[in-house]
Amino acid sequence: MTIRPILIHPDPRLKKVADPVTAVDDALRTLAADMLETMYDAPGIGLAAPQVGVMQRIITMDCVKEEGEDPRPMVLINPRVTWASEETSSYEEGCLSIPEQYADVERPAEVEVTWMDLDGATQSERFGGLWATCVQHEIDHLDGKLFIDYLGSMKRQMITRKMQKLKRERARA
Ligand SMILES: [Zn+2]
Repeated sequence: MTIRPILIHPDPRLKKVADPVTAVDDALRTLAADMLETMYDAPGIGLAAPQVGVMQRIITMDCVKEEGEDPRPMVLINPRVTWASEETSSYEEGCLSIPEQYADVERPAEVEVTWMDLDGATQSERFGGLWATCVQHEIDHLDGKLFIDYLGSMKRQMITRKMQKLKRERARA
């Protein structure tokens, strides 16, 4: 398993719609394992393939936060939201591609998601709480959408300028 570099906003690859996965093969299994390792290393609770520069519809997540609770690494291939609650909830979101920036985003409080697992089987599950926020945030990445796209343009531009500065500093380092 390899930790892959995470793209930092702004990057054109983070604005593109990713392609559906057509087959689960060794390359995809390697990608999934790398994404989980990259996500845990960051550390983060979710990661989408475009964030490591792979334009395929695959996400990883693990929102278990309680100390002592077993981790629950999940790999979702071609995930899609099939139902969303009318009730919404607001969470302070962050993103591994937008380091150290956080903002409240309102989304459906519960969603039902269908996806393909690494055995090629169809799975579906209803997510609530942090899991619901995370899975929607990650599926957004597959459609080229970032959490800052939910913010007002002033706030979004301010964060984008900070990220441009961060990238310049990193490039010099
Ligand atoms: Zn993100």
